[in-house]
Amino acid sequence: MQHMKNFATVICSTCFLLFLSCKKIQNETEIPTQDPQLKTLIDKGFKASDIVSVGDNFVIQGDMVVKKSDVALISSKVYKSKSNNNSMRGTQQADYSYSNPPVTSTQISVYVDPNISANSDWVNAINSAVSEWNNVPNFSIQFAVNITNPSSDIRIINGTNSSLNNSSMDYGIVSSELPINGSPGTTIAIDLNSSNSYSSTYMKLLMIHSFGHTIGIMHTDEYLIGTSIPGTKQCPYQGCNPDPLSVMNMVISSSTSGFTKFDKVAIRYLYPLDQTQTPIYRYYSNARHFYTCNWYELTFGNSSWVYESCEGYIYSNSGNGSRVPVYRYYKSSTGDHIYTINFNELGNGNYGYYRETDLGYAYSYQVSGTVPLYRFRHPTSNQNLHFYTQNYSEGYGWIYEGICCYVLPN
Ligand SMILES: [Zn+2]
Repeated sequence: MQHMKNFATVICSTCFLLFLSCKKIQNETEIPTQDPQLKTLIDKGFKASDIVSVGDNFVIQGDMVVKKSDVALISSKVYKSKSNNNSMRGTQQADYSYSNPPVTSTQISVYVDPNISANSDWVNAINSAVSEWNNVPNFSIQFAVNITNPSSDIRIINGTNSSLNNSSMDYGIVSSELPINGSPGTTIAIDLNSSNSYSSTYMKLLMIHSFGHTIGIMHTDEYLIGTSIPGTKQCPYQGCNPDPLSVMNMVISSSTSGFTKFDKVAIRYLYPLDQTQTPIYRYYSNARHFYTCNWYELTFGNSSWVYESCEGYIYSNSGNGSRVPVYRYYKSSTGDHIYTINFNELGNGNYGYYRETDLGYAYSYQVSGTVPLYRFRHPTSNQNLHFYTQNYSEGYGWIYEGICCYVLPN
C-alpha cells in the first residue's frame, strides 16, 4: 500500500504521460500478510508491496492482474527472482519464467467488446498495436482481432462497465491479465472514462504495452521482479532505467514511439519463430569491440566489458550451405578481435591472431531482408583495432575496410 501511494505521488508529479490513472483506487483492500493466495504470488517472485487486492483479483504494479483463484497457475515454473546481488540487478524486458515462454500459443485471437468497438479511437489503437506486434521480426505469435467471437483468447472489455463484473479491473487506463498455464492473459480492460485526453499514439502504446503483459512481459523500469532476458540492458543501481524509451516501461515516456531495440530483443528471445536466428551481442572496452552470439561468454558484461546492444542477428547453421561461417580471431597482444568470412585472410591463425570459435553463419551476399555489417579499423591506434556495425555513420572517423558480411537487422 505504501508503495502504491509513493508510486502514485512520483508518477503524478512527472511530466511524462501516465500509464496509470491517478484517480483514487476503489475497492482496494489491505491484504492480510498470511493470505495464502498472496503468499503463493510472493513465492513466485512478486513483491508484496507491488500487490494490491481488488475484489477477486490481485493487481500488480498498477496494471497487471491475476485472478486470486489463478495464482497457483500463473506459471508452471517457479517465478525466478532477481540476483541477490543488489549491485547487479537487471532490466525488466523480463519474463517470469526463465526457461519456458509463458505462452505456448502461436495464434492469439482478440475479441473487442461492443463497448470498446463503438469507440473508433480505441479500435484504431488496438489494430495498430496488433499490427506492430505482428511485425516484430521473427516473432512466433500472431495476434488477430476477431470481433464476432467473444470466446477469443483475449477479450478487450470496458473496465468501467460493472455489468461485465469487472469493476475490480477498473484500475489503470488499461489493465491486463497475466498469462496462465501457457495461455495468454484472457482480459484487457480499458477504462473508457479516461480515454478522451490521450493522443492516438499514446493509446496505441498503451495497447502494445497491455498485449505485452498478456504474454508475460514485465515492466522494463521495475527491477525487482522477473528475470532479465539475455541481450537486454542491465541496471547497475536501483532506480536507473536501462531502456528509457521501452514501451514496457511502467511510465511510458512521451518520446516513446513503439518497441525499442531491446524490447524486440526480449520479444524475439521469448518467442522466436526461427530458433536458428541468433543475436550478435556487442561489447565495448577501451576502444575495443567484441562480438559474440554466445550470451554466456560475457552476459551483461563485467568490470572490463560493457554490454552495448544487439548488433543484428545471424544464424547458428549454414542453412544448407546458403550461409558461410564468420571466423573469429583474437590477438592477445592488442586485445583486438577480427571477424571475417574470408578464411584466407587469417587462416587457422596468423599475424599474432589466434583463431577462436566461429561467430556463426551469415550471408556473403545480400539476400532479401539482410543488411551489410560494415567493418572499420581504428584511425590512430597502431594496434589495428576493429569495429563492426550495421550503421555506417557510426564508423565516422574510423577507416572503412569494407562489408564483413550480410546480417539480419535488429
Ligand atoms: Zn504495465
